[in-house]
Amino acid sequence: MPGKSPKQPKPRKATPARRRDGAASAKPGAARRSGPAARPAAAARGPRSATQASRRTQVLEFRRGEETFRVPDRLPVLPLRDVVVFPYMSISLLVGRPPSVNAIEKAMARDRLLFVTAQKRSEVADPQHDELHRAGTVVRVLQLFRLPDGTLRVLVEGLTRAEAKRFQWSHDYFMVQVALTPDPEGAGPEHEALTRHALQLFHDYVHLNRRIPDEVVASTSTISDPVQLSHTIAAHLLVKVSAKQRLLESPDAASRLRQLAETLSGELEIVRLERKIEGQVRSQVHKNQKEFYLNEQLKAIRKELGHQNEFASELEDLQESIRKAKMPREVRAKAMKELERLTRMSFMSPEATVVRSYIDWLSALPWRTVTRDNLVIQNVQQVLDEDHFGLKKVKERLVEYLSVLKLTGRNKAPILCFVGPPGVGKTSLGKSIARALGRRFVRVALGGVRDEAEIRGHRRTYIGSMPGRIIQSLRRAGSRNPVFLLDEVDKLGADWRGDPSSALLEVLDPEQNHTFNDHYLEVDFDLSQVMFICTANSLGSIPPALADRMEVIRLPGYLETEKVEIAKRFLVPKQRAAAGLEASDVEITEEALRDLVHGWTREAGVRNLEREIAGLCRKVARQKAEGKLEKTAIVGTPELVAWLGVRRFTDSAVERRSRIGVANGLAWTETGGDLLTIEVSVLPGKGELLLTGKLGDVMRESGQAALSYARARATHLGLDRWFHRDIDVHVHVPEGAMPKDGPSAGITMATALVSALTGVPTRADVAMTGEITLRGTVLPIGGLTEKLVAARRAGVRTVLLPRGNEKDLGEVPEEVRADLDFLIVETMDQVLEHALDREAPQSSAGAPQLPSEEAPGHYAH
Ligand code: ADP
Repeated sequence: MPGKSPKQPKPRKATPARRRDGAASAKPGAARRSGPAARPAAAARGPRSATQASRRTQVLEFRRGEETFRVPDRLPVLPLRDVVVFPYMSISLLVGRPPSVNAIEKAMARDRLLFVTAQKRSEVADPQHDELHRAGTVVRVLQLFRLPDGTLRVLVEGLTRAEAKRFQWSHDYFMVQVALTPDPEGAGPEHEALTRHALQLFHDYVHLNRRIPDEVVASTSTISDPVQLSHTIAAHLLVKVSAKQRLLESPDAASRLRQLAETLSGELEIVRLERKIEGQVRSQVHKNQKEFYLNEQLKAIRKELGHQNEFASELEDLQESIRKAKMPREVRAKAMKELERLTRMSFMSPEATVVRSYIDWLSALPWRTVTRDNLVIQNVQQVLDEDHFGLKKVKERLVEYLSVLKLTGRNKAPILCFVGPPGVGKTSLGKSIARALGRRFVRVALGGVRDEAEIRGHRRTYIGSMPGRIIQSLRRAGSRNPVFLLDEVDKLGADWRGDPSSALLEVLDPEQNHTFNDHYLEVDFDLSQVMFICTANSLGSIPPALADRMEVIRLPGYLETEKVEIAKRFLVPKQRAAAGLEASDVEITEEALRDLVHGWTREAGVRNLEREIAGLCRKVARQKAEGKLEKTAIVGTPELVAWLGVRRFTDSAVERRSRIGVANGLAWTETGGDLLTIEVSVLPGKGELLLTGKLGDVMRESGQAALSYARARATHLGLDRWFHRDIDVHVHVPEGAMPKDGPSAGITMATALVSALTGVPTRADVAMTGEITLRGTVLPIGGLTEKLVAARRAGVRTVLLPRGNEKDLGEVPEEVRADLDFLIVETMDQVLEHALDREAPQSSAGAPQLPSEEAPGHYAH
């Protein structure tokens, strides 16, 4: 500001009388009076002013609206710092620099008119004329206050733009010769448009800019003269002096309005941005404040409720459990990060629960806990023998497997897979292996698992999410090298939820399983030390990719004698102990055990047998508990009937008598082998084949093939070539517990059919299995051992086997083969030769009297 000079000069010419005069004349319109202003500058003195004084002061005129102003062409100069004064503008200035004070005094003594102009550099204290802008404004002093320190406060009003022509030092202040440069009057549509536009922008600017009072909007709205408006707006702008100076220098209203519009647009943009940033900052501050406040409240509430300590101690516990878990470095880092997150959470929030249980999982897993293997092979054999009766071959293979493991020292051996019906000891063999090695044992049932997430876990998004079954079981095992039994791999499903078998493949693959990734854990777990063992009921339904990695060990099922031994040595002692009985409390006779096996439990394994024995033991336990047991309870056959009810199975052994239209087949089911009796009856009809019973598609096709064979061989069999035209053939497979399917009943069907057609009975003690082709060739079948076990159980003497299965006989345990005769067949003719009993009486109520080829026309059409 012009009055900031530190000096406090005493204006020498400022006499009280003049001051009073000045004050009295300080009213608007003073400049119009030509009086003092018209006179030559008589006050001009000094060395230079003598030459200047000779030049007469001229009076310049200009119009503003209706008014005409007269201004002398020589005026005292008031240099201004940081201010540009525009015409139409009133401004209060503080003046302290001596030349400036003198200039004002001079003006007050004359006509109150001054030339004001901005300094080029505001820091210059004593500006010479070349430090001043040439373009300035003629102002008149409206009011003047003398402050005690000698500085002046003047209120000036801008009158018109003027240009400094020549500066003169006049004793103790500057004078200047000016040329007036008033704006030409502006009107017309262009001015109108420019005015409105600038005004609109200016109003927006004022609204956004809190440093300009709102009244300015009202006062500018009433201005219709573009010149006045352009100056007024320019005066109010909060921009740099240089920008203001440029606005002042604009030659006319139109160019000034354009320049204003440009400046205002830029300024508006900046102000809006400022506002936005300010808003963002404020909302962030609010948010922070809010969070802080709520957290403080929460803390206070917790403190009141006594939760804080609990939470703190829980955090400590978690930290301690992370420390103890001996996690790999990256897992530990992850756990610590989650713990850190937890400390910032609200104790009760669901999110905190998720994080807490996650940390809990991480710290509970056996990252480094391993048990030491006890690989003394003799010990393995001993443990297997202690736990299981029989199974000689199986035990041998297990010992061999573990021997290789001992020698190679690596877990790269193929995965063991026990295949066999339920209750044959697959699980308990797995347990024995674990016991023999000194490893922990865990089991996962995969039956019915259809969702990949059950193997691999659910992502950690909701409260109930958990790791998959593999990781869960490892936590249970508590070591990272347990024997891990994957039960029923053949029952794995697959649907839209993903394919669990591919996840399982990764679990079992030694190339991949050292970095098994559970979705929930998010960190890898090393499964390479785990000894996986799979079990399945049938090999066929194991996903092929899985089957490829496995070493299959079959457990076909037990004979009755074996079951009785197992019961005697293992099941009875086990169940007796489970029921809380002493050896002296109960004795189940061997005969009763045999009856139990034969009449109450028909199965390949011993699961139901064990269950029934458990039932019997409980009965005795009750007696003992009630104090009624005086001596050893002997459980014989009568007790069985009394306690378990009537026999569930009558002897389904082969019929002793030869019959027409019936043949004994051998079937394989998931519960073991079974005797399959096929019945055929021939009825008058139209050549249709009817198949009933629980049959699958493949078996139906076998029925068709059998009939086609009979037709093709009609002559050879002693039948009419057209026999089928007048009859319907009904093939029935009596329903067993299990649905049966597969091609191996082919020759049985054909035998029963030929017997029915020819009236020749079949031999009751012969059973057979084999696929038939249309030309009567017999093809090999699978599941031989189970079928032979079933044959023996049923009392069959002779078994007809396809040539293709001859080599498999060697695989069948000695005890299964013991009492059986085997006849190897290649063609259906050979089958019939052995199966049909031509010596027995050949007529039966079951077979219709059929025409033979030798008696054509018997059935005339
Ligand atoms: P799987 O897993 O094949 O369905 P388990 O292993 O559960 O059958 O066996 C059922 C029961 O029969 C278990 O109590 C098991 O100990 C017993 N068991 C099976 N085979 C034998 C055997 N050869 N010797 C002794 N016990 C056996």
